[in-house]
Amino acid sequence: MFPPVRRSDFPRVVVVGGGISGLSAASELLRSAAQRGVAVEVAVFEASSELGGQIRTERVDGMLLEWGPDSLVGQKPAGGELCARLGLHDEIVRFESGEPTFELLHEGRLHPLPSGFVMMAPTRLGPLFESSLFTTLGKLRVASERFLPPRRSERDDESLRDFVVRRFGREAYERVAEPILGGLFTADAERLSMRCAAPRLLELELRHGSVTTGFQRMRAAERAGGGRHSGAGGFFSIRSGLSTLVDRLAARLPEGSVRLATPVRRIERQGDGYSVISADGRETEAVAVVLAGPAWASAQMLRDLDPELAEALGGLGYASCSTVHLAYGREQVGRPLSTYGFFVPRASGLPILACTDVSAKYPGRAPVDRVLLRVFLGGAGRPETDGFDARTQIDVAHRSVARLLEIKGPPVFGQVRDFPRSMPQFPVGYSATIELLAERSARHPGLVLCGGAVGALGLPDCIASGRSAGDATLEYVASARKTNARRDARSA
Ligand SMILES: Cc1cc2nc3c(=O)[nH]c(=O)nc-3n(C[C@H](O)[C@H](O)[C@H](O)COP(=O)(O)OP(=O)(O)OC[C@H]3O[C@@H](n4cnc5c(N)ncnc54)[C@H](O)[C@@H]3O)c2cc1C
Repeated sequence: MFPPVRRSDFPRVVVVGGGISGLSAASELLRSAAQRGVAVEVAVFEASSELGGQIRTERVDGMLLEWGPDSLVGQKPAGGELCARLGLHDEIVRFESGEPTFELLHEGRLHPLPSGFVMMAPTRLGPLFESSLFTTLGKLRVASERFLPPRRSERDDESLRDFVVRRFGREAYERVAEPILGGLFTADAERLSMRCAAPRLLELELRHGSVTTGFQRMRAAERAGGGRHSGAGGFFSIRSGLSTLVDRLAARLPEGSVRLATPVRRIERQGDGYSVISADGRETEAVAVVLAGPAWASAQMLRDLDPELAEALGGLGYASCSTVHLAYGREQVGRPLSTYGFFVPRASGLPILACTDVSAKYPGRAPVDRVLLRVFLGGAGRPETDGFDARTQIDVAHRSVARLLEIKGPPVFGQVRDFPRSMPQFPVGYSATIELLAERSARHPGLVLCGGAVGALGLPDCIASGRSAGDATLEYVASARKTNARRDARSA
């Protein structure tokens, strides 16, 4: 048990949640503390029996299974920076996009996303006009995006659907944007906030007049600079799986900093700091607390301390999803994917979100004689599979892919993992809630929020959010220390 902090001890910071957000916060806090010579103790409280949260890598039967995230998006620098800091640069594996990278299900058939598409923006017209994915009118509408006047105001938010229909037309929404972005964010695209989910597209529209022009200029600049293009191929992972990030971050924490199987129930004000009360009733004093769990969990912890803050946090909905891994002998697959996978539009009626060919995406993930597929179920747009038992989920996933990939016979391996209430669903206007959260939490000195609750979506955002929470907390600890020292000097 952590003893109560005495004045002479290092000030303690409790980080609640040992996912990537919390671990990034803890590690950044300690790093900055060491750099600035500030003495601080960090304690990470994690509800489950393992660190990593949604990051779950498993090795089974010669296969490397990523049940949660499997990739970091290269356009957001926080992921690459973390890998560099952790000495993982040589361990990075990329999926090189010999385009096309993905396929999309439309009218019962898989169609490649045309080369040159960045999300739904066609940076090259030739492949768009050759594509079997759109009607002629649909192609003209997509191509005309570059000529449409941009929206004027920077503050406006709109749903993913409204944005894409406004800029690229209905076909681009239904056949590309809804399946890809709705699938990646396991979201209902009609409700998902553009400002939270894809702020870069809004920015491109404002800065360059159109999204397509923005992407074209970015690509040209990158080519001129000899860099990689920023298309869908800019994803990477770690050879040994993303849990390596978790292991390396955890290894940097001083021994005894992590308390597993310790759900936090309540946070109370105590003197100048806080009392963190875990499910077993134990109380731990802290000068500062970083809340890095899901918003609904933080809401429960803060119910007594600040009901308004708790209510704002509790208002954020989370969707559930499941990952099914299916392995087949190569000879079983009649129509192997020529890309890394496919996305499924909601309107298709197929009860899966997407499917990735893991064996093709990153090297060394499956024996060469096997095709390893990762199939996603659930999300806010497909609640129909919520509550299915494991056998039914595997069966649904198998039947969905078997038809499209002409697979003969049952999988040689099939397992599923559920992620209940895992994916934050930012509704249109959620950025105003983020401002409200910042304003309310600022009333509690030393209480810092990070992760999904404050708009982080995906690993790079969570890493960046954790890092800034770590920095903000250290700043607070350092200034509180000075104030206390002055107070002690005056009263001496
Ligand atoms: C199936 C799936 C695939 C994904 N794929 C990708 C991808 O390829 N790329 C990508 O960038 N992102 C992906 N994501 C999203 C990404 O995984 C998340 O954005 C990120 O991992 C969230 O990290 P986090 O630390 O904020 O939250 P979490 O990982 O959810 O961690 C929160 C932690 O808080 C703990 N906790 C909860 N309540 C309490 C409590 N009361 N007391 C103490 N601890 C508590 C939880 O146990 C958990 O460990 C995927 C997500 C899923 C589910």
